[in-house]
Amino acid sequence: MEKMSDRNEAWRKATRDSLPPRERMAIERVKMPEVAPARRVACRELEVNEGLTPGMARREACRCLDCVVPTCVEGCPVGVDIPGFVKEIERGEFLQAAAVLRRASALPAVCGRVCPQERQCEERCVRAKRPGGEAVAIGHLERFAADAELASGAAPEERVTSVDAARVAVIGSGPSGLSCAGDLARAGVAVTVFEALHEIGGVLKYGIPGFRLPNGVVDEEVDRLRRLGVRFVTNFVVGMTGTVEQLRAEGFCRFYVSSGAGLPRFMGIPGENYNGVLSSNEYLTRVNLMGAGSAGADTPVYRGGRVVVVGGGNTAMDSARTALRLGAERVTVVYRRGEREMPARVEEVRHAREEGCEFLTLTNPVAYLADARGRVRQVMVQRMELGEADEDGRRSPVAVAGSEHALDADMVVVAVGVSPNPIIPASVPGLDVSRRGTITVDPVTMRTSVPDIYAGGDIVRGGATVILAMGDGRRAARGILDSLPG
Ligand SMILES: Cc1cc2nc3c(=O)[nH]c(=O)nc-3n(C[C@H](O)[C@H](O)[C@H](O)COP(=O)(O)OP(=O)(O)OC[C@H]3O[C@@H](n4cnc5c(N)ncnc54)[C@H](O)[C@@H]3O)c2cc1C
Ligand code: SF4
Repeated sequence: MEKMSDRNEAWRKATRDSLPPRERMAIERVKMPEVAPARRVACRELEVNEGLTPGMARREACRCLDCVVPTCVEGCPVGVDIPGFVKEIERGEFLQAAAVLRRASALPAVCGRVCPQERQCEERCVRAKRPGGEAVAIGHLERFAADAELASGAAPEERVTSVDAARVAVIGSGPSGLSCAGDLARAGVAVTVFEALHEIGGVLKYGIPGFRLPNGVVDEEVDRLRRLGVRFVTNFVVGMTGTVEQLRAEGFCRFYVSSGAGLPRFMGIPGENYNGVLSSNEYLTRVNLMGAGSAGADTPVYRGGRVVVVGGGNTAMDSARTALRLGAERVTVVYRRGEREMPARVEEVRHAREEGCEFLTLTNPVAYLADARGRVRQVMVQRMELGEADEDGRRSPVAVAGSEHALDADMVVVAVGVSPNPIIPASVPGLDVSRRGTITVDPVTMRTSVPDIYAGGDIVRGGATVILAMGDGRRAARGILDSLPG
């Protein structure tokens, strides 16, 4: 956890005293300006949330009480100094606010857009605990400060690594690899990131669509790392293009494996091989990374008339909203639990509904039916009800006997989770993995069973979140630095 800034500094006391708590409590939560649903569906890449203006951000920052015990921080997986950055915004020091954020988070412009704040920091804000109370909009303020910094063109730190610096290879350029690379480069280590795809960013690029996270935001963050001295090698699949053993021979002395969980999962029900049934991973990657939704694309994606999306997470919402933007007539999200149990961010579910996605909750597919040419035409589903809570405390869905019925569909996108890609574990002798295929690590240092290899992010956790993946990257960077001689 990062050290909190001193709330007794003179400017901070003066900011606090400038408005009594009662008046702060009377300010209503500032609403994020959003593009109207019809327009955003028509403009595929247009970001839905438009961002706060400086006036809005300062007003929202005034709602924060600068608590003696800031419970919001306990809800943040990387311990961002929340009142510290929010009070900087209140006094108009936006670049300072971004600097406070960067002490704990390598990618604040990303986290401000995609973190599930309502289940983390904002859920723990004292204002949310009062009946009818609304949390300080911490995520929106984080995005505001990070965007202000990017827009200012403020030069990031530049470092020159010494010729005899230790060489570390980061495998995978998602949020976990990027945050590890940043911390190592700042410490003077010579870092090279190897990425299997032709673009840097992992899920931030190939999974999360531009209407939620514009590619330009990710590119700016990657540029900052380049200026810090991080080298990027694309189209390089470690374990195939070259092995860890070969990289060792080239002089890399430590490795951070952040290769994510990019292997799609299916439900194992009849008909999954029919044409028109595809994983969300394939669908989103083809659209986001290969331009498959654009006119004249070499490998166009089927646009769908009646699209069914299976799942209730962010991936399902992204797939459903992408299908609408590509021109599907009707998009139905089928989820086996209720809406309250959906793992997707609340805002994504709201946006999907506003845009016209329909939701069929407590419903689960049992088979896909096709026409004579093998093209999917219907999804057989059955009703579910919620039974006993499972080990995570979530009530398990139980099938209602005799409730099967068919939904028409000419395209089905399956978004029911992902598994770790086995290439690295299979190509490195002695690397311990769990039964689920995740790499096993020491949770403090992120070191694996092979002494020079560290790992983190989705390859260790299974599908998780951006902020947890980044936190692992930072912990691994500390572990690696502590292990280097001298
Ligand atoms: C569609 C979608 C939406 C999501 N929405 C959210 C959200 O709103 N909020 C949130 O917090 N989380 C969200 N998540 C989850 C989040 O994106 C992941 O938890 C996070 O990206 C994991 O980061 P990572 O760095 O571990 O892996 P990844 O982001 O998966 O990056 C791994 C990278 O490693 C590369 N790679 C794999 N194998 C090799 C190899 N052998 N050699 C070289 N490179 C390799 C891959 O090509 C990839 O670029 C979403 C996930 C998806 C799929
Ligand atoms: S708990 Fe809420 S009000 Fe208190 S410091 Fe955190 S954001 Fe501000």
